[in-house]
Amino acid sequence: MDRFELLVLGGGVVGMSIALEGARRGLQVGLVERGLIGREASWAGAGILPAGATVRVDDPIEQLRQLSDKLHSDWATWLMDLTGIDNEYRRSGGLYLAMTPAERATLRANQLWWDELGIDYEKLDQQSLRTKVPWVSDKAEGYFVPADAKLRNPRHLAALRKACELLSVRVLEGTEVIGFDGQSNRISHVKVNGQDDGCRVLTAERVCVATGAWSSLLTKELGIETQIYPVRGQMLLYRFDRPPFSMVINEGHRYLVPREDGHVLVGSCEEEVGFDRSTSSEMIEQLRRWASDVIPEFQKHEPVQAWAGLRPGSIDAFPYLGTLYPYENAFLAAGHFRHGLHWSTATAQLMIEHMLGETTEISLEPFRVQRGNTLPR
Ligand SMILES: Cc1cc2nc3c(=O)[nH]c(=O)nc-3n(C[C@H](O)[C@H](O)[C@H](O)COP(=O)(O)OP(=O)(O)OC[C@H]3O[C@@H](n4cnc5c(N)ncnc54)[C@H](O)[C@@H]3O)c2cc1C
Repeated sequence: MDRFELLVLGGGVVGMSIALEGARRGLQVGLVERGLIGREASWAGAGILPAGATVRVDDPIEQLRQLSDKLHSDWATWLMDLTGIDNEYRRSGGLYLAMTPAERATLRANQLWWDELGIDYEKLDQQSLRTKVPWVSDKAEGYFVPADAKLRNPRHLAALRKACELLSVRVLEGTEVIGFDGQSNRISHVKVNGQDDGCRVLTAERVCVATGAWSSLLTKELGIETQIYPVRGQMLLYRFDRPPFSMVINEGHRYLVPREDGHVLVGSCEEEVGFDRSTSSEMIEQLRRWASDVIPEFQKHEPVQAWAGLRPGSIDAFPYLGTLYPYENAFLAAGHFRHGLHWSTATAQLMIEHMLGETTEISLEPFRVQRGNTLPR
């Protein structure tokens, strides 16, 4: 029988980060993934990390963003030192464009929000905008936020994987969690279905569910209802000879994210289509048209790849971070929706603090599992 001090279920960015943080704190950790680690939403995402507040904040989501923002810079450095992999974490800045009167009004509201959070920005008229991005549409106006960052998520996942291996996390790929055995208020066994060795059981002092969009299926096995559901996002990839711009460009919920080798991601959309992660020709066409509207230069290029991923949406837009009561040794870290790559660092630190019974750097009370669904946002 396999025994662990911490068993993390789900090998996305959230599960891998928690496993790694656990190993850094000296725990003997197992990481269970039914497919290959880092291939679902965490691979499909864009890696945009909007700036965190520079002043003290009370809003729980802003606290999570602020802590994540601070940790990402540290993690990029120590991951690079440990693994030699550059995850391309960069403070590239973010451009927020308005092409219509409604978008101009929204950005004016954003301006108030940035003021409150102490986030610097520069308002750009059409001319100064074109100095930053010469190809941008002449209909656009915007704001530039210098502290916005990005990372190249497939590289980040590769660095997390290598770091897990170097810190002796036991990675069990091709291993699906199919159920649990509980005794009174503790989980005694996790039942898994391996590709090679059939059904077996794993034991752990602590079990953390981090199975992204699939998490409610597992909490249901424990008799606990959570409201996490898949929200599909589609993405296109273009390739230029050299990066056409360096910062992330946002317009509403759509964005362009340049990589350092000339690739540019174009995303995305929010679709509630269950666990279907196929792409659709209609959405690919919409994204192509949108990219060409913002930067007409895109008309001269064809996308080289398209994919979709399933974000773990939560009913009140708060992730679930806490204990799966009545089981005192079972925990949930899921429901990060559009922000899991960003909030993964704070999630890892806070969940390990919580699981070890320490005081967490920010309160997890607003993110507790049994909170009802009435939190205002
Ligand atoms: C198109 C798109 C763009 C995005 N852009 C950004 C962005 O710019 N910035 C940002 O911060 N976030 C972004 N996101 C969101 C982000 O990708 C997610 O919030 C994050 O990846 C969630 O990580 P996760 O580890 O919870 O889930 P996942 O990465 O989906 O990992 C969950 C893992 O659990 C495994 N699993 C499921 N069930 C079981 C089981 N029974 N047994 C074993 N393993 C199981 C799955 O195979 C999977 O590997 C984007 C997402 C998409 C789809």
